Amino acid sequence: MNKNGNIGVTSENIFPIIKKFLYSDHEIFLRELVSNAVDATQKLKTLASVGEFKGEMGDLTVRVKFDDQTITISDRGIGMTAEEIDKYINQIAFSGAEEFVEKYKNDAAAIIGHFGLGFYSSFMVSKKVEIVTKSYKEGAQAVKWSCDGTPTYTLEETEKADRGTDIILYIDDENKDFLNQQKITDLLKKYCRFLPVPIAFGKKQEWKDGKYVDTDEDNIINDTTPAWVRKPADLKDEDYKKFYQELYPMSDEPLFWIHLNVDYPFNLTGILYFPRIKSNIDLHRNKIQLYCNQVFVTDSVEGIVPEFLTLLHGVIDSPDIPLNVSRSYLQSDQNVKKISSHITKKVADRLEEIFKTDRKQFEEKWDYLKLFIQYGMLTDEKFYDRAVKFALLKDIDDKYYTLDEYKTLIKDNQTDKDGTLVYLYTTNKNEQYSYIQAAKDKGYSVLVMNGQLDVHAIGQLEQKLDKVRFVRVDSDTIDRLIAKEDVGKVSLEEQQREALQEIFKSQLPKLEKTEFMVTLEALGENSNPVVLTQGEYMRRMREMSAMQPGMSFYGEMPDSYNLVINTDHALVKDILASEESACNEKLQPILADMKGWKARQSDLRETQNSKKEEEITEAEKEDMTNTNKKIAELRVECNKIIAEYAASNKKVSQLIDLALLSNGLLKGEALSNFIKRSVDLIH
Ligand code: ADP
Repeated sequence: MNKNGNIGVTSENIFPIIKKFLYSDHEIFLRELVSNAVDATQKLKTLASVGEFKGEMGDLTVRVKFDDQTITISDRGIGMTAEEIDKYINQIAFSGAEEFVEKYKNDAAAIIGHFGLGFYSSFMVSKKVEIVTKSYKEGAQAVKWSCDGTPTYTLEETEKADRGTDIILYIDDENKDFLNQQKITDLLKKYCRFLPVPIAFGKKQEWKDGKYVDTDEDNIINDTTPAWVRKPADLKDEDYKKFYQELYPMSDEPLFWIHLNVDYPFNLTGILYFPRIKSNIDLHRNKIQLYCNQVFVTDSVEGIVPEFLTLLHGVIDSPDIPLNVSRSYLQSDQNVKKISSHITKKVADRLEEIFKTDRKQFEEKWDYLKLFIQYGMLTDEKFYDRAVKFALLKDIDDKYYTLDEYKTLIKDNQTDKDGTLVYLYTTNKNEQYSYIQAAKDKGYSVLVMNGQLDVHAIGQLEQKLDKVRFVRVDSDTIDRLIAKEDVGKVSLEEQQREALQEIFKSQLPKLEKTEFMVTLEALGENSNPVVLTQGEYMRRMREMSAMQPGMSFYGEMPDSYNLVINTDHALVKDILASEESACNEKLQPILADMKGWKARQSDLRETQNSKKEEEITEAEKEDMTNTNKKIAELRVECNKIIAEYAASNKKVSQLIDLALLSNGLLKGEALSNFIKRSVDLIH
């Protein structure tokens, strides 16, 4: 039998497509051919198990060899007859695996028939491909198929001692770099590392007489029974940890893991590990690997699992995930959707189980888990609904609470006069120490919120929980953080208020990208005389904008602080009193003058208000402008006198600096001035 022919009618134009477009990654040819070899071997095992093959199985190792022209992949699987080559290879659109699976539905689970045009991917790197094959069927005639990349092929009888198939690739000039020991090793390690049949690439070597020489032992590159294909009952913690090390050498031990095993309504096995995430760098270093019947497919699983689960590590193996298709197609695929929500559910189940059965362990690992769980809660509604039961809050004493527990804890003491529950938090225990102390003195609880996603998590909880507000401990004075009743009124004359504000305003340091407001509050004589606060809203906006590019508006705004002067404090009263005795004499005539101008201003305003815009004469307008100008000038004059006084009273600057110091804002020259002044004051 000698046969020449054209490969299927439809194939006229398929080679250029294969070469250029079908597979962007040339290297996958090796994956395709080795999995075909494994596939043929598995088929033989299946036939043996149902009694259709009664011969000797012998050594079933798949072998990969190369020389300076060719790469050969050999198996001792079922082989092919001339008719089968015709049917499965020549009519390329026709996939033999599909027919086989149909026939042996119940036994053929391990067949890798998923890659469609797999065999033809060999033409991406070859100028000629030969198949030398002999079927397992009794008395089968070995045949050789040869094709040089045009749609013409030859098929002839040949001699072959053993059952099985050799695929011989004559590598073309552009792809000669594949003819390399290291390159092939790397590819086999990448794609074939966990295939279910032993794959040998050459022989193991040993160091002898100053060089490496081959031993008799096959160099097997794969582990045929990786942990995820074994039964969970047969595995110990050590085995899971060992497998993790195998996947990600040099990584820290995982926190815990989930063994996935589903066979209905889709097929899915795998092991997912919760990693110890310590920093951003760790986040994307190790990735989940996707396999299809133990053949590595990809480690970019976006679109297959929800985004937050891509932070997990491990292996997912499913023949039900369509491969070689676009990401957008994947996302709309029903099976993929089911798989994705199944995995989410399993992950939530596992976390809840650990939380319920071993709360201590869960708390110990919370700091590592937090980022992952928050990410899930923020991006996946379903996961939020599950995780809200076991997500934890940590307080400044490292105690952990669920959201429900925490609510019960603070309900009585931290509800403000409007019935809103106020969650106090700190982002830095050291920097915000004095504010935390003040809150503690009130019997308040303070949470630690210093994680990367905390700003977002806070926003989400405020939205989801009823009448709840999060405020950082330093965002207001203690009585206003959780306002129980209307706070004390400042009982000062207008002139005194203006003077007091000016005293402090005039002595504030100029800091880059920082703005200060001065306000007066009656905080009680035992509270600090001067407190620096930073409003919750603006600060949070700035923090969020630092993470989101579209919100740069807030990012460019200066930091704004509120310098709160406690009018009840003896020191403040003292400063005001001595300002009055030092300045009143000089201020009095100016203020009297100002009083006259102000009376005039209000007269003018009254008459102008009673008229329509067009009835106001030019003279009247000018009068108003002059009056305003005069008042402003007098104000400047007053302020000058007050500022002069304030500069002479070291206590003013000292109080401001103390407030800045307690917020870590006193630096450089200002800090050194503060130290000098402190020494003077002690003297
Ligand atoms: P698929 O593997 O998706 O079926 P391929 O183009 O890779 O597509 O292979 C086509 C068919 O050729 C296979 O289904 C199988 O019947 C046959 N075949 C390929 N390689 C071998 C092999 N090494 N041994 C036996 N049959 C093979």
